[in-house]
Amino acid sequence: MDKYQVLKKFFGYDSFRQGQETIIDALSDGRDVFGIMPTGAGKSLCYQVPALMLEGITLVVSPLISLMKDQVGALNAAGVHAAFLNSSLSAGQYRKALELARAGRYKIIYVAPERLLLPEFLEFARHSCISMVTVDEAHCVSQWGQDFRPGYLKIAEFIRALPMRPAVGAFTATATREVREDILAALQLESPVTVATGFDRENLFYKVSAGTEKFAEVMAYLRAHPTESGIIYCLTRKTVEEVCERLRQNGILATRYHAGLSDGERRQNQDDFLYDASPVMVATNAFGMGIDKSNVRFVIHYNMPQNIESYYQEAGRAGRDGEAANCILLYAPQDVVMNQFLIERETEHDVLTKEEQKLVKERDKERLKQMAFYCTTNACLREFVLRYFGEYTTNYCGKCSNCLTEFEEIDVTETVQAIAACVKGCGQRFGMTVIVDTLRGSQSAKLKQNGMAGNACFGTLREVPAYRIRQVMQYAIRQGWLRVTEETYPVVRLTEQSHEVFDKAPIFMKAAKEQEKKSGSARSGRSGKKQHAQPYADVDYALFEELRKLRLQIAREEQIPPYIVFSDKSLRDMSARKPQNASDFLKVNGVGEQKCKKYAELFLARIREQTKKSL
Ligand code: ADP
Ligand code: MG
Repeated sequence: MDKYQVLKKFFGYDSFRQGQETIIDALSDGRDVFGIMPTGAGKSLCYQVPALMLEGITLVVSPLISLMKDQVGALNAAGVHAAFLNSSLSAGQYRKALELARAGRYKIIYVAPERLLLPEFLEFARHSCISMVTVDEAHCVSQWGQDFRPGYLKIAEFIRALPMRPAVGAFTATATREVREDILAALQLESPVTVATGFDRENLFYKVSAGTEKFAEVMAYLRAHPTESGIIYCLTRKTVEEVCERLRQNGILATRYHAGLSDGERRQNQDDFLYDASPVMVATNAFGMGIDKSNVRFVIHYNMPQNIESYYQEAGRAGRDGEAANCILLYAPQDVVMNQFLIERETEHDVLTKEEQKLVKERDKERLKQMAFYCTTNACLREFVLRYFGEYTTNYCGKCSNCLTEFEEIDVTETVQAIAACVKGCGQRFGMTVIVDTLRGSQSAKLKQNGMAGNACFGTLREVPAYRIRQVMQYAIRQGWLRVTEETYPVVRLTEQSHEVFDKAPIFMKAAKEQEKKSGSARSGRSGKKQHAQPYADVDYALFEELRKLRLQIAREEQIPPYIVFSDKSLRDMSARKPQNASDFLKVNGVGEQKCKKYAELFLARIREQTKKSL
């Protein structure tokens, strides 16, 4: 079978995506490969297709049990013999699986890194034909990353222990230079064919909202998208608990996930989410690695995360199926303070020296600053992120809240001068909140206490709304006219360029048009609707809902997640094509031979029924 036949027969797809073919050709030629592609780009297929074409067995090193389970489930559903070997198996199950592996039962075996050098496994590997070793989530080898996994450092040793060196493939979605270098060195890749596809995820819509009513905004979104599954990320366990509880009180099928729950509850809640029993997951960043659920339609950040890397990774869990999905970040200035605090408190990594730890902290603070800039910028959000990762694109994507907001240039000369004067007037001792309150002439006890109530700047911007003062202050920081210190309680200070505020007048700033602000949801409303202007003209949405029900029913019977039966994309394609027989059915995106055999009859019947009903 050639690669196109494999693609169609097992996975049901007609064409490869960007980067996939180059990688597949190299691996099937026995060459090493380094694939750097964003989440959802289709990295698994890059090694699964050659695995099915090569003689012998492919080993896939993977960091998480849930990831392995998911992938192996999907492969078996597609008619590929695959298995996983990890600590979720009992001793008996493990031995049995190894026995079957020795007998050549599996083409693809997923294995946890710690297992590679155990005598029993090594013995098996040394006496089998291992044609390829794939390292998934290869950034786990890097001590610079958050997902460092010591077991990954053993992979190279394992490969050396094999009688014949197999082709080695490494895959990751993390692109920073340090991590790349670590991967190349630690895995000892031999002149790998390197493929780095663009980082843009075209199907994702990005939005930042600085509205003050976060919970109301979430509820409004969920009410407008009642059938969708998504993740709501919060910064702390406590917020997870609160938000999840309130959602439930409001009748939303939500579940929760954070490191403070028992293993059992976490597993249960994760399954409820995967199986769409609780389509909304409220979680800390402990949730997500290894979640390959393809029909996540939105990722809402209830708080600003710590850096753009995390944000892009977490938001990237939306829309893996390539269908439109929304990534919404609800920003509040306190999020910055909370993150500062978390960075200070970060637990010490015993692998790093004191010096290195200091460096890591400094770097974390710098990254936090960039994250805050993302939340306050008026420029294209997509471009901001891509530029952060070193890619240069146009400054208009048309698919983010900033590109869809109408802006106007407003004169902020007086505001910015008053702010600078206030920073100076208070002796550069206070944070943003005190400065805003002072300028607004607030009657708070705190101002009286710290003497600001009697300051010359008190009340000079009484007429300007607080959000605008903050906006202008952020703008001044971005311009380098002011800076914020990196302490637990950050303080606003002057810089060497502060005088420009007075030299450069008049000063204009881009801001969202006023009438939009008044309409309540800040710069939200319009953009959301646009996104959901149905991009699939031919899809019969009533049929789509019917097919979703059928999918859920099958998933429950077979005890597999619904998206493993069929992706949203497959169902949508089905609802547009309305296949009448098995050969039509095979043409649907994501329908391979195995799934056609198994499900064609059920789905065709449902399509027929529904078509009759609507006549
Ligand atoms: P990654 O590991 O890069 O994050 P996955 O391997 O999980 O991404 O793939 C994401 C989704 O894309 C899966 O649902 C997969 O079936 C789908 N996919 C991969 N390659 C193709 C292709 N060539 N055509 C259509 N869908 C694809
Ligand atoms: Mg993957």
